Amino acid sequence: MGLLENKIVLITGASRGIGKSIAEECVKQGAKVAFTYLSSDEKARALEQELTSNGGVAKGFKSDASKYDEAQKLVDDVVEAFGTVDVLVNNAGITRDTLLMRMSEEQWDEVMNTNLKSAFNLTKAVLKPMLKAKSGSIINMSSVVGVTGNAGQSNYAASKAGLIGFSKSIAQELGSRNIRCNAIAPGFIETEMTEVLDPKVVEQWRSTIPLKRGGTPQDVANATVFLGSDMSTYITGQTIHVCGGMTM
Ligand code: NAP
Repeated sequence: MGLLENKIVLITGASRGIGKSIAEECVKQGAKVAFTYLSSDEKARALEQELTSNGGVAKGFKSDASKYDEAQKLVDDVVEAFGTVDVLVNNAGITRDTLLMRMSEEQWDEVMNTNLKSAFNLTKAVLKPMLKAKSGSIINMSSVVGVTGNAGQSNYAASKAGLIGFSKSIAQELGSRNIRCNAIAPGFIETEMTEVLDPKVVEQWRSTIPLKRGGTPQDVANATVFLGSDMSTYITGQTIHVCGGMTM
């Protein structure tokens, strides 16, 4: 039996990267998966096909997580399709990196709305089904830079630090209702995005990490499954660093 047998998991931003890996692992662990994307229609269709090809249950929804009304509609649609939402993974995220001196208001707002406001939007929307079920697990995808800060990423780091504060607050507000809320702080995760980097730079990063390698999307998916499952029923308000020891 899988760790998420029959749980309904909603993942934002799963057309590629870490979200895709989380969707794949959740289906492997017996969950029924609803996932979202912003514009990658083809990738989303391919993922839906992949996830359902071996009898898995999954459905992709095009929905902008940064928009309050779209989040409400999304959750209504997911509840209609699957009955409820047991686990919410707020994974959708973007970067608009530049030094503060050059950062536009638009770059600040875009990152805040997609990375942080989205968690507010989706968490508000899943409250109804989770309160009704008297249980739930909410997982917010932060980052180690939300803990350490990073030059050239003040907007991104602020949004990721915000997710940690948000997670702790929701854990306190909803603990008595058996709704848990935790954050995951991935470190340097090797994805399509990092494949285009200079191999020397990547090697330099790897050498500074105690476990001497970059993380994989699967590493993050494993932590997500743990926090979504009943293996973690006494864990809330925490931030799990999935970073090979990069931050401690
Ligand atoms: P990615 O490959 O760039 O994928 C981002 C996903 O988010 C895509 O599915 C994208 O959909 C979706 N998305 C973007 N804006 C959206 C919106 N407004 N509404 C709904 N979906 C939206 O990112 P990743 O590297 O897998 O990262 C996933 C999460 O982990 C992010 O929150 C990121 O900040 C965090 N993280 C990543 C790393 C890393 O090293 N990769 C490290 C720490 C934290 P479309 O394909 O349709 O655009």
